[in-house]
Amino acid sequence: MTPRIPLSRPALGPLERRYVEDALASGWISGTGPYLERFEAAIAERVRRSHVVAVSSGTTALELTLAALGIGPGNEVIVPALTFVAPAAAVLTVGAVPVLCDVSPVDWTIDPVRAGDLVTSRTRAMIAVNTLGHPCDHRALARLGIPVIEDAAQSHGAAVGASPAGSFGRVSVFSFHANKAVTSGEGGCVATDDGDLAARIRLLANHAMSPDRPYVHHLVGRNGRMTNLTAALGLAQAQRWDELVDARRRIGDRYVDQARELGLGSRPTRRGVTPSCWLHTVVTAPETRNRMIRLGRDAGIDVRAIWPALPSLDLYSGRTPRPCPVAVGASASAAWLPTSADLTDVEIETVVERVLRPVAGASA
Ligand SMILES: *Cc1c(COP(=O)(O)O)cnc(C)c1O
Repeated sequence: MTPRIPLSRPALGPLERRYVEDALASGWISGTGPYLERFEAAIAERVRRSHVVAVSSGTTALELTLAALGIGPGNEVIVPALTFVAPAAAVLTVGAVPVLCDVSPVDWTIDPVRAGDLVTSRTRAMIAVNTLGHPCDHRALARLGIPVIEDAAQSHGAAVGASPAGSFGRVSVFSFHANKAVTSGEGGCVATDDGDLAARIRLLANHAMSPDRPYVHHLVGRNGRMTNLTAALGLAQAQRWDELVDARRRIGDRYVDQARELGLGSRPTRRGVTPSCWLHTVVTAPETRNRMIRLGRDAGIDVRAIWPALPSLDLYSGRTPRPCPVAVGASASAAWLPTSADLTDVEIETVVERVLRPVAGASA
């Protein structure tokens, strides 16, 4: 039998079922309800922020945050060249200009020195993506003196010392898409200690309808709300946060050991940081990486190339004042291995034997 091992499948259990059925039975299925309040409180406690606004997706969280910060046409926002596209697309969506910055070879997150070189009089913010679950050097980024939006979408459970991912910068965003470590299906949130900013985001997510005057609108808002049904699923997952995060981390640790034994690499990490393992990322020579993907395909194992560096996409190629060799190199040499929280020992063995061992020793 051909194994069918997906890159990531959600780990859903009886708690999720109970909460979702309860939300359904209550009739609260749209953008208000008790599960939304509980979900927001659970995330706020987890990431030690005083305000959390649950929204319909991580992308919506980014767009609303940029809009609430007053960022639009004529403004520039610095974005890493190695990321899922959403942060760069969100900048374009609000009419501003994404300025792509190379990542650091040390940890593949946005390079603080290079980012400093890109600051101009038009720079209004930076979106600091905790790439592949690795927290940025937020202390260095804070010194640049521009507002930092932390994109923690891939870094549930990561930390620097005692400070969790989601607690850095002026404001942080999460995604709870089904392939993230903690999921609500589709969904996202904004977390901040700035009460005014949180209120502005909540307003914009709710048609900019004046809280005290129904159907009176002074701004152009949108419908970016999360549903109570979605929040029920999200709350169950938030209550299993440690279990879900730890399971992925253990799988990542096993892959790291196996890869090392077989002469393959893993994504770089900076000392003193506790990354999360969103998807385990193996690193090798580009030809070997591509061979691993083919081996996976033949064996029914979803091994995937990571994102192309954004400068190699037509839409973003003109947006790099400086070349981004680290992002381009990382993109060509890295692949994800299946990393579901409930991945079994047999599945891990299968990935190792069918995908890693055949390319053993291909690169140091
Ligand atoms: C997944 C992801 C997003 C987008 O989240 P959605 O909920 O899918 O809209 C944004 N930024 C990063 C870094 C992501 O990985």
